[in-house]
Amino acid sequence: MLRALLLALAKSSRLRRWITSNGTTRRMAHRFVPGEELAAAIEAARACNRAGMTVSLDHLGENVVTREDAERARASYTDALDRIAADGVEGNLSLKLTHLGLDLGGEFCAEQLRIVTLRAQESGNFVRVDMEGSAYTDRTLRIVKQARAETAAVGTVIQSYLYRSEDDIRELLGIDCRIRLVKGAYKEPSRIAFRRKKDVDANFIKLMKILLPSGIYHALATHDPNMIEAAIRFAAEQNITKDKFEFQMLYGIRTDLQSRLVRQGYRVRVYIPFGKDWFPYFMRRLAERPANLLFFAKNFLRGSARK
Ligand SMILES: Cc1cc2nc3c(=O)[nH]c(=O)nc-3n(C[C@H](O)[C@H](O)[C@H](O)COP(=O)(O)OP(=O)(O)OC[C@H]3O[C@@H](n4cnc5c(N)ncnc54)[C@H](O)[C@@H]3O)c2cc1C
Repeated sequence: MLRALLLALAKSSRLRRWITSNGTTRRMAHRFVPGEELAAAIEAARACNRAGMTVSLDHLGENVVTREDAERARASYTDALDRIAADGVEGNLSLKLTHLGLDLGGEFCAEQLRIVTLRAQESGNFVRVDMEGSAYTDRTLRIVKQARAETAAVGTVIQSYLYRSEDDIRELLGIDCRIRLVKGAYKEPSRIAFRRKKDVDANFIKLMKILLPSGIYHALATHDPNMIEAAIRFAAEQNITKDKFEFQMLYGIRTDLQSRLVRQGYRVRVYIPFGKDWFPYFMRRLAERPANLLFFAKNFLRGSARK
């Protein structure tokens, strides 16, 4: 119930204005988003690299409504790739197709993605296309497949809460596409998605067991110790070595688990978001864990009382 409410509120422009203009909430968002500028993300990336982790930078933004905004987003991604290369950061890029204009037309968006992926290819880097709500799944997969036909510097994300995901994975494996497996962060109806955590988790493990033996370098993006344990056990049973896949986690979440995995010799990549448009990302993080909402409310009241 609470999750559904927070995900619905993530679309409220009034709440967005209030939260993003309030000093206390802006400071609190720093727990999940290190800053609004690329420089802040690079600084956070350097710290992760020093701690033995790679990163994926994401310039936050989604559902742009003009071509100019989509082109600006595309330029910010090619700039980020250049900066990663120039600064020797161990990291790649994540992006959302609605930030590159998917709502304005598939062909236009595919062309923006093409420019970014070709720049990534030139610098020996990689672009991960995030998966958004189910209204975009077919279009995202179509554009990713088209891009993958041109370059190996692109991969995408599959959500274990969707019933269709096993079929999608088999198709993507057929074109050697790298996949990040997640549980899924959006509000989806039971017609197309598992609603109970137990079912989403069972499907995550089932899909993980298809991905890891495929011989392609995939990512398991979760903070769930049970999913991580299941993957470690399965990889050991199948003699899949630690360099054949990676774990991914979000900036600021379960940093203890991130460090533990690094100490155990696993590859860990931290997803680092940056940018001014952090409100929907922030709301999805609150929705994932009621304790975050409590933490947010307590700090907000404390911050307001100090004023
Ligand atoms: C690198 C990365 C990229 C992602 N990309 C996408 C994407 O493209 N599309 C998409 O739909 N989703 C994406 N997600 C989000 C994902 O779908 C889940 O919503 C999110 O990871 C929470 O699920 P979980 O697997 O961590 O397990 P859960 O069952 O939600 O949580 C397990 C445990 O993890 C910890 N935890 C989880 N979330 C939080 C949090 N917000 N704050 C503090 N602790 C937490 C808690 O200890 C919790 O008990 C991504 C996640 C990661 C890590």
